[in-house]
Formats: sequence, C-alpha cells, structure tokens
Amino acid sequence: MPIITQKFGGTSVADAEKIRQAAARVIETMKNGYQVVVVASARGKQTDQLIADALELNPNPPKREMDQLLSTGEQQTVSLFAMALDAMGCDAISFTGGQIRLMTDSAHTQAKIKSIDAERIHKQLDQGKIVIVAGFQGIDEYGNITTLGRGGSDTSAVALAAALGAEQCEIYTDVDGIYTTDPRIFKDAVKLGQISYDEMLEMASLGAGVMHIRAVGFGKKYDVKIHVRNSAKEIEGTVITHEVPQMEGVVVSGATIQKEMAKIGLVGVANVPGNAAKVFARLAKAKVVVNDIIQTEISPEKANLSFMVGISDSTAAKEAVEEIKDELGRDDIFIREDIAEISVVGVGMRTHYGVAERMFGALAEANINIDSITTSEIRISCVVDKDQAEKALEAVCVAFELDKPPGERAKAD
Ligand code: ADP
Ligand code: ASP
Ligand code: MG
Repeated sequence: MPIITQKFGGTSVADAEKIRQAAARVIETMKNGYQVVVVASARGKQTDQLIADALELNPNPPKREMDQLLSTGEQQTVSLFAMALDAMGCDAISFTGGQIRLMTDSAHTQAKIKSIDAERIHKQLDQGKIVIVAGFQGIDEYGNITTLGRGGSDTSAVALAAALGAEQCEIYTDVDGIYTTDPRIFKDAVKLGQISYDEMLEMASLGAGVMHIRAVGFGKKYDVKIHVRNSAKEIEGTVITHEVPQMEGVVVSGATIQKEMAKIGLVGVANVPGNAAKVFARLAKAKVVVNDIIQTEISPEKANLSFMVGISDSTAAKEAVEEIKDELGRDDIFIREDIAEISVVGVGMRTHYGVAERMFGALAEANINIDSITTSEIRISCVVDKDQAEKALEAVCVAFELDKPPGERAKAD
C-alpha cells in the first residue's frame, strides 16, 4: 500500500474541533487506500507561550533545557490526536521523535536530522495503524531531546516521507498553498499551482515562513513531492516539485519581505590579503550565520565590507567585529537594524532580461531608496528602510503582476 505523510501545523490542531477535523481527513486518506503517517506541531501558539514561560524565569535559558521544554508542545498534540482517532474508531499510535529514533546532531534548538528508524513505523503501519509522530524534535546520540528550529515540523514530515518512501508529503496549514507573496501582507497575492524546489528554497531563506527551509532541501535531495494545502478546505494547494521547462516562462514566481535582520558594515578596511578571512573566521567562531556579503574596493588601499545577519545575532556579530577592529585598520563600523530586504525570485530570470530594471524602476517610482542590492541566478534582493518595507513589497508585486496567476500576466520579454 502506498504511504502518505500528512503534517498539520499549529493552527490546524489548535483546539479539539480542529484536531477532529484533521483526524477526519486522515481517516478519509486511509479509506482511499493509503497508509498514513501524521506529523503534528504544537497546538496554536503553544511554542511561543513555552518560550515566554522560559524567558520569565531565565533571560538566557540553557539550550538543552529549551529543547526539553519546547518538545512537550508537540508531545501533547500527538497523544491527543491519537485519542481523537481512537474515539472515531481507528487504531492509532503516537510517538515522540526519540521513540522513532529520529537521530539528530547535538546542536540544541537548531539540530539537524541524521537518520530515522523507519522500521518501527512500517511495523505499525503494516498492523493497520495510523502512526502519529511529534514534529520538530529528535534525540542526539547521548539521548538528549533536540529540536530542529522554529517551523521544524515541516522538516520532520518531509524527512519521514523520504525515510518511508512515501508517495508524497502533504503540509496542511492555514493558507491555501504557496502564494506569490505572503497573502497576509499583500492581500492581492495569488496562489501558485506549482513552484520549483530551488525557488522555494530561495523564498524560504528570504523570509517566506510558509515552509521550513530544510524541509524543502530534503524534498529536493530525496525527491519527495511536497503538497502545501489548507487544512480547512477541500481544495488543491501548491505542489513543490522539480523544475519543468515551462517554469522558465514565468519571469518571477514570488516576492518576499524579511524584516528580522541587521546590516553590519566595515568602512575603509585596509585592502590587504587576509582581512576578509579574519572577519568571517571571527564570526564563525561566534556561530553567527552571515548572508549577502558585499566587498568593494574604494581605493587601492581601502575597501568597504558589509554583510547581513539575523536580528537575534546582531549583538554577537557586532561584538565579534569590534574585537578585531584594530587588526583591520578600518575607519568606521556601523550597524543598521532599521532595514528590511525585499526580494523577487524566479527561475525565469535565467532566460529573461530587464528583471533588475523592472524591480529598481518600481522602487524608484514609489520613491523608495535602495540601500544595497544582492543577486543570485534566480533572485534579486534590495535592502530598504524598514518603515517602507510593505510599500516596497507592494510596488514590486504590482510591477511583476504578482496579483495575477502566471498564465494571465502580460507576456514577458
Ligand atoms: P503552520 O503553523 O501551519 O506551519 P506557518 O505560520 O508556519 O503555518 O505558515 C503559514 C503562514 O506563512 C501563512 O499564514 C502566511 O502568513 C505565511 N506566508 C509567508 N509567505 C507566504 C507565501 N509566499 N505563501 C503563503 N503563505 C506565506
Ligand atoms: N512548534 C514549533 C514552532 O512553533 C514547530 C512547528 O510548528 O513547526 O516553531
Ligand atoms: Mg510552519
């Protein structure tokens, strides 16, 4: 029998009624001839609440203890889900990450999955049971509970689908699928029928919180078809899949907005071999994840160097750079936290010209200044003032007709 994994996010299991609805969908899928493995998140905003509880007692809680605490949210959901299925006459069994030996490294609060014991799950499925697994959590080689980072239940679901050889992984959430941009910010955004793994990887890394980035990475690597759908509706969502030739006909698939970031700049650094290496070695030691590095020579002796970090890392990054500032012979260091990044993403950029011009033109017309620009093969990002971020997103969405389905847009160049 084919296997399907169905992941239900926080809002989709927020209360008893929602759990019953989700359970009914699982039963329906089973009746359609599938073995079903459910992956569930913590209910509603429970993870946020647990974090608040921790911070009330300790402003800097030990990460191992955070994982111990946060994993309890998902553990509650899975047992409640199994009870709901039992009440509906179905044989179901719930597991924590540790119980299915979902092994991770020991990087508490940001752990990476190493392996999963698919055997235990197959055994239960073959006995006719529905298996419900707690998302977002695993254990390390020493038996400590770990978690995969916020939004990590998506990754548990896709990794399980890969380990079990599932036909597809359905991600049930509170929107109809993947939209051209966050529909809660730009209300005219439209749902996409499909999107490539590469586009979704870019969008997830640029702030589209609808999918956990590592889930998309697993999907691409292990060839898992991911279907993002609304748990409250009986409609098709968005399929994340390998690129097909017609995707290149769409210039821009989506736009993103990212506000939780800071820019650090080193002005007038001595233009000598080894300075960039010094900066990034120090940042790596401080475990700071860095993006969008820009270095420009401003004279034969001097260069400007800037990079972006997540806002939660900005203090650590600033401290790291401050520690080595005298070795760099720089003129000044600045940090900007009043910024946001607006990006457009699309595999069609590889084959169409005029995309940059269209984006910068839209921002110019909206009278928005661009602080800096970075690009990849399939994206263009502009840093703008944070208080103009929504206006910038809207201008860009209108310029690329992201309020229309790809097939209804004016023909691209
Ligand atoms: P869940 O709890 O089900 O995992 P999330 O809150 O993690 O749900 O993800 C769904 C949310 O992602 C939506 O409510 C939406 O606001 C946000 N989102 C951001 N970008 C997009 C996008 N491009 N398409 C759809 N939703 C998006
Ligand atoms: N409950 C976790 C979170 O809120 C994991 C998830 O929902 O995917 O981040
Ligand atoms: Mg999520």
